[in-house]
Amino acid sequence: MELIDTHTHLYQPVFKDDISEVIARCRDNGISKLYLPAVDSESHSLMLDLEAQFPGECIAMMGLHPCSLNADYKKELAEVESYLAKRKFCAIGEIGLDFYWDKTFTTQQYEAFELQIKWAKELNIPIVIHTRNATSEAIEVIAKHKDDKLRGIFHCFSGDAAQAQQVIDLGFYLGIGGVVTFKNGGMDKVVEQVSLNHIVLETDAPYLAPVPYRGKRNESSYLNIIAQKIADLHQVHIEKVAEATTQNAIAIFGSYKYGN
Ligand SMILES: [Zn+2]
Repeated sequence: MELIDTHTHLYQPVFKDDISEVIARCRDNGISKLYLPAVDSESHSLMLDLEAQFPGECIAMMGLHPCSLNADYKKELAEVESYLAKRKFCAIGEIGLDFYWDKTFTTQQYEAFELQIKWAKELNIPIVIHTRNATSEAIEVIAKHKDDKLRGIFHCFSGDAAQAQQVIDLGFYLGIGGVVTFKNGGMDKVVEQVSLNHIVLETDAPYLAPVPYRGKRNESSYLNIIAQKIADLHQVHIEKVAEATTQNAIAIFGSYKYGN
């Protein structure tokens, strides 16, 4: 069985002391690839170091996270742009809109999101979208810019069934993680209605650990728990979920391997 974690922050300092063991547990569980979303300049080098340490297995994206928008955002965007010019990346992410914590930089969030969408189209690579309290706004932005080059994932999808359908109609995939295992999370009701053809798996480690690890440090080897939950919801064998979601991840990220 092969699984792909399409969204994991394994480069964060919380994994510093046992990253080799974490990666070994992933291998034991059949997780063949770990896609690393970028956040901002504070962690770009940590991410790229991890990618270099596990080539072909840890694969970096590049982008500016909406929660990292501050007065310095032009400088941050310039750094993303210069990385994109330097070498190949599998995707631009994570980018998007987050109105949960702070609305101070709403205009700038839109500006950064749309600019990075434009770069992804120019490079013909997918985008990985982060939204919080902003699913319908992000869907609107994607609908506005949609063409045959714009494609990607709504990471940690948290919308309702109607929004899931809008995402699918735009040709995007739903990133499903630990929240699907939460009681009262409501994601189980959405996921059971969505065809496996539109789902990719993710942990978003170290955040959002699935039950029974909820509240603890998440890690990519828990991806099996998420796959099993989706299998239960769809009443199929976990192999089926693995096959479909791995195929979807390959369809998005391609056979892109490492570096340039
Ligand atoms: Zn993330």
